[in-house]
Parts: sequence; structure tokens; C-alpha cells
Amino acid sequence: MPITRQRPTGDRIAAAARSAGRAGGYCWVEHPGGGSHCTLSPEHRGRHFNFYTRKEFD
Ligand SMILES: [Zn+2]
Repeated sequence: MPITRQRPTGDRIAAAARSAGRAGGYCWVEHPGGGSHCTLSPEHRGRHFNFYTRKEFD
């Protein structure tokens, strides 16, 4: 997987990060407050959850 050294600078980068997350096998729905994504599998049921922040969200 290519790792970009560019700073995140907008929607195009966000979209790329989202695609990377999906490609990585995550649900990757963004937290409503931003800044984190669901790290459960794409097929999971119920609430989303971010492993790193340990926060659940709808
Ligand atoms: Zn999810």
C-alpha cells in the first residue's frame, strides 16, 4: 500500500483515505464528529466502533 507523504489538504485526500480504509477491510464510516472512522468489518451489525478512540457511534 502506498504511503503518501503529503499533508491532508482536502476532500480529495479524505476520499483517498476513505478508500484506503475500505480497501483495508474496514467499515470505515466516519464518526459524526469527524476525525475517526469505524474499524469494524464492513459486514458488522449494530453501532460503529473505532478501535483507537474506543468510541461507539451510530
Ligand atoms: Zn461501522
